[in-house]
Amino acid sequence: MSSQLRHYYLQQMGIDTWVKREECKSKKHLVQLAADVSLCVRCPLHHTRTQTVFARGNPDAKLMIIGEAPGFYEDQQGLPFVGQAGGLLNKMLNSIGLSGEDVYIANVLKCRPPNDRDPQPDEISHCSNYLTQQIAIVSPRLILAVGRFAGQFLLNASFPLNQMRNKIHEYQQIPMLVTYHPAYLLRNPFDKKNAFQDLMIVKQLLTQ
Ligand code: URA
Repeated sequence: MSSQLRHYYLQQMGIDTWVKREECKSKKHLVQLAADVSLCVRCPLHHTRTQTVFARGNPDAKLMIIGEAPGFYEDQQGLPFVGQAGGLLNKMLNSIGLSGEDVYIANVLKCRPPNDRDPQPDEISHCSNYLTQQIAIVSPRLILAVGRFAGQFLLNASFPLNQMRNKIHEYQQIPMLVTYHPAYLLRNPFDKKNAFQDLMIVKQLLTQ
């Protein structure tokens, strides 16, 4: 169990804990950033959201997963990947021996686009600074971008997904992989075998 999670559980039980200064600092930054995001009115998506969706998982995790934008269930619950696509994402992680505690999950957009339409370039440009700050604070050992939007944003390029997957890229000197979005895999189960190959690379890089 990570130290942050241990502190969290102890705090929930009303037990005071000591936290190392640097741990405290980064956690405080994420809490502050989440609070800033919750008040964000930088783009029109704030009119239609139920709430912002910041992240879930363990900020000390070695692996950070980055998706596209919240959908209906995420908008309702305020957490990323809690709908059907999230169910498949959990299974994908389980297939390489990881659980929700081993990853930190966030999206490029923090608000749901109406009717789950594609993110618009101006929405991405208004919102993406939140994600880049999250990545800098969490400082993961490996990033897995799921789907074309996350891959293209992090690579600052407009490659199709098939050109981005199956390669080790770098984002700000952090190794990064791109794989299919779980929502795509729900519609195209034939590609699950390719996604599993990508996940095997994730596992290999994490155990190096
Ligand atoms: N799809 C995403 O890209 N992110 C979510 O949080 C949910 C569905």
